[in-house]
Amino acid sequence: MPELPEVETVRRGLDLHVSGRTIEAVQVLHPRAVRRHPAGPADFEAALAGRSLDAARRRGKYLWLSAGEDGLLAHLGMSGQLLVGEPERPLSPHVRVVFAFKDGGPDLRFTDQRTFGHMCFVPGGAELPGPIAHIAPDPYEAAFDPGVVAARLRARRTGIKRALLDQTLVSGIGNIYADEALWRAGLHWARPTETLSKPEVSRLLAAVRDVMDEALAVGGTSFDALYVNVNGESGYFDRALAVYGREHLPCARCGTPVRRDAFMNRSSYTCPRCQPRPRRARY
Ligand SMILES: [Zn+2]
Repeated sequence: MPELPEVETVRRGLDLHVSGRTIEAVQVLHPRAVRRHPAGPADFEAALAGRSLDAARRRGKYLWLSAGEDGLLAHLGMSGQLLVGEPERPLSPHVRVVFAFKDGGPDLRFTDQRTFGHMCFVPGGAELPGPIAHIAPDPYEAAFDPGVVAARLRARRTGIKRALLDQTLVSGIGNIYADEALWRAGLHWARPTETLSKPEVSRLLAAVRDVMDEALAVGGTSFDALYVNVNGESGYFDRALAVYGREHLPCARCGTPVRRDAFMNRSSYTCPRCQPRPRRARY
């Protein structure tokens, strides 16, 4: 699933190619793409036709385009892509929604092979769309307060990785960046949050920000060629991953083979030496 750096890469592309333009018409090709828009596909199309898009914004893994006081909210799910291109190009079978613009320039296509992604129009949602108001600020927002997050994290009494993935505590972090940040901070994923010292939490939050900065600089991580920017190009942070997806390969710091554990129906990757398992583990 795309995490903050991949979604931010898409947001930047939208800001560059779509902000400041006026929608001519919207065509929903698959109703599932707008299943979270309660009034249905026809209402979604009508609500957006003729609207000018102001700016592309993001919180965690969600992004939205503001239009006056309203917002067009999108989540990419597992395989969603927002692609900008010439209107004459062929329509791929996975295109779910097409946005045509008044200037006749490049259109915007929401493409989603596995259809877990979705879009909805949120009246009054320009600043922060209602459906995502419960999500915590991500590490790139001015509202993100590392001191507050550290205190809430230690109060959770859960495993540190589970806490990092909890979008109501801090948003934008998924499996990849959680594992990479924990490795950088030298912390095992099953460390009980209440046993973390303040310096350990600070180190971890700094590591989250560092690894995301580095991923953003190269367009994010693309694992199965589905995470692309608005021009359809993949990022290449997968080449710089230290532990994620690297079972049995040597740790970049100490050479010990990377270990994979089952975790929440997925995996956790650690270096057994750099990230010692706690005596009392929490999942
Ligand atoms: Zn190591």
